Amino acid sequence: MDKILEAIQAEASGEEIASLALPESYRAVFVRREDAAMFEGVASPDKDPRKSLHIGEVPLPAIAPDEAVVAVMASSINFNTVWTSIFEPLPTFGFLDRLGKESEWGRRHALAYQVIGSDAAGVVLRTGSAVRNWKPGDRVTVHCNYVDDQDPTSHDDSMLGSNQRIWGFETNFGGLADLTIVKANQLMPKPTHLTWEESGVNALCNSTSYRMLVGQNAARMKQGDTVLVWGAAGGIGGYATQYVLNGGGIPVGIVSSPEKAALLNELGVEAVIDRKAEGYRFWKDEHTQDDGEWRRFGKQIRSLVGDDPDIVFEHVGRQTMGASIFVCKRGGTVVTCAATSGYMVEFDNRHFWMKLKRLIASHFANYAEAWQANRLIDMGRIQPLLSAVYPLEGVGDAALRVHRNDHEGKIGILCLAPREGLGIDDPEKRDRIGEDKITVFRRHGG
Ligand code: NAP
Repeated sequence: MDKILEAIQAEASGEEIASLALPESYRAVFVRREDAAMFEGVASPDKDPRKSLHIGEVPLPAIAPDEAVVAVMASSINFNTVWTSIFEPLPTFGFLDRLGKESEWGRRHALAYQVIGSDAAGVVLRTGSAVRNWKPGDRVTVHCNYVDDQDPTSHDDSMLGSNQRIWGFETNFGGLADLTIVKANQLMPKPTHLTWEESGVNALCNSTSYRMLVGQNAARMKQGDTVLVWGAAGGIGGYATQYVLNGGGIPVGIVSSPEKAALLNELGVEAVIDRKAEGYRFWKDEHTQDDGEWRRFGKQIRSLVGDDPDIVFEHVGRQTMGASIFVCKRGGTVVTCAATSGYMVEFDNRHFWMKLKRLIASHFANYAEAWQANRLIDMGRIQPLLSAVYPLEGVGDAALRVHRNDHEGKIGILCLAPREGLGIDDPEKRDRIGEDKITVFRRHGG
């Protein structure tokens, strides 16, 4: 592995990189099948990822003809890292077992451990015999849409594929490791002006937000739209906010601290609501929502931007869905991709149908959408949300911070990269785009 890192840092040619021997095993973050019941009886907030995430050597599997081995320089914590590590809403080994039954190559995934992680920036080391567009030495980022291209249902929009999966969550050999195995159609060019850790945090959240707001498959925001963004300084919310600003929309950013509010102001968001400071409680008790609170929330939004939201960017789920449906404009759209606070959501259907609102489901992004989202990062139109950086050994602490909502934007993880700040290919472009713009979240983060 030392030789691989040396070659990457010396910017060795593709031929040189292709000639390096691959190790038989590699360092990785994994969960164990035998631990799947370890948190039984523990309340969700008390489940500690540090107890279930292991770091150690795992064997390097053979690659299929359509796959590549990538040396991972940096990766990130996603919320799915938290879900996997606390075995909620269910252990991910069932996904691996189903994949294991699909094919000979799928069988590799059904193991007693799962290497997790759904983001990566790094360098291609090897490609399978069917890979056409990528070669050893290519500097890449990896998106997490794992698609079976032999399934006809994958060929309109690959997110509609009946066996579509998220790499490193519903598959093995994920990105929180020194090496990863990916399908060639997960690869995208690394943004040339960014460091490894700035490049390695974007693909999952950025592509998700792109599809939800910009692409053809979900809310299709237009200029002048008012867009309410929950968790506007968090992972998907931080990219969503930038898409609203870029696309001529008017963001209303919801956050839970003055620090996050200041961060949004620096991004250019004028209408910010600190939900904690305002004391919003949309549920009176476990079973009863408070429509008075919905009305108070709606009034505050109107007082800030003079209008109801054309689009609500929703991912919080149970705690907020009733309010989201209520405050959405007549004929407007609530777009959802998640349910962090609980997936059994409840809303007042009268406000929904009488005002002709729409609720649209969205999930990650197809390759074309992920590519467009990556291109916008490469052009410097969307900035990375890197706010903090941990070594691979600190993955449990980093995942705990995300579990506790004690972070802004995205937390980066250094894998093979020995320190921060490496990997910038085009420093002049970085200067043109502006260090200040690129590092807004890093300067606010810890
Ligand atoms: P994140 O970085 O933790 O951000 C989530 C934000 O939600 C937090 O910053 C927090 O903002 C807000 N929030 C949390 N609890 C809340 C509550 N009770 N009420 C209101 N706001 C609350 O996570 P993320 O990466 O953005 O992911 C968010 C969710 O989307 C997760 O459930 C994740 O699994 C899911 N996701 C789905 C996809 C997909 O493809 N379907 C892709 C990415 C993520 P404040 O505390 O500042 O308000």
